[in-house]
Amino acid sequence: MKCSLCNKRAFFKGPLGPFCEGHLIESVRERARKEIEGVNEKILLAVSGGKDSLVLMDVMAHIYDKEKLVAVTVVEGAGRYRLKEVEVAKAFAQKLGIRYYYVTFKELFGLTLDEMVSKGRLSPCTYCGVFRRRALEYLAEKEGAIVATGHTLDDEAHTALLNLLRGSWEDVLKINSRVRLKPLRKVYEVEVAAYAKVIGVPFQSEECPYIVTRPSLRARLRERLFELEEVRPGTLIRWREALERLGSPKRRVKYCKLCGYPTSPDREICRACELAMEVGARVPKRLRP
Ligand SMILES: [Zn+2]
Ligand SMILES: [Zn+2]
Repeated sequence: MKCSLCNKRAFFKGPLGPFCEGHLIESVRERARKEIEGVNEKILLAVSGGKDSLVLMDVMAHIYDKEKLVAVTVVEGAGRYRLKEVEVAKAFAQKLGIRYYYVTFKELFGLTLDEMVSKGRLSPCTYCGVFRRRALEYLAEKEGAIVATGHTLDDEAHTALLNLLRGSWEDVLKINSRVRLKPLRKVYEVEVAAYAKVIGVPFQSEECPYIVTRPSLRARLRERLFELEEVRPGTLIRWREALERLGSPKRRVKYCKLCGYPTSPDREICRACELAMEVGARVPKRLRP
């Protein structure tokens, strides 16, 4: 099998055709370049230490001014989970010449994720998702940067479909907003994995301990979509592009009475503050309201 763009042997056959190593790398970087077109600010890279986020770092280091990049890991737990990830992310950032640091839930919110989960009634993913997002928002503000995450095409397609199943078009279209950069949003998970292999990213970080014990609707959806993509290659990218044509939702922004961060128009208090009150955590105030 030959690369679809040159005469070399293809090492990978993805949904967009067979590629040689060089053309896979180039194709991924090119798609990322398009996603960040026109951006000139400092960028805070959200790095979990997993393969997607390491690929994000590598891609960005090659298509953007390194002086304007900073990578950060938000650590939810105390010990066990994530410590290895921090070591891996740190070493990788150093190799690429990107500034790196990590912060913990405990420092920012006064509790670890485990402590929140043991005190709260909701699923671990709720606390993890809400506070992780807030941590990045807060750190980006502190750095005067915009956040970039390693979300792939698969992540985006799953999120959009989940929101559709929950019945909210407005939430479906939120993925078109450019509040956060997602340079890999048009790159398939399998392409990210192949890219990781080419550049020698250490494989693969540990699964989230909560996912293993309580598989979410998302995890199930992921498996079904994977099967669908096998049968009809290109399904996810067609779905993503169809959504993109619908544009992002116009919404009014309201600010949380307690912390000053933007929240949805039907709320007085943001989700993070609400959850923090439930479990007895704290939420840092917005620096520049
Ligand atoms: Zn080629
Ligand atoms: Zn708030």
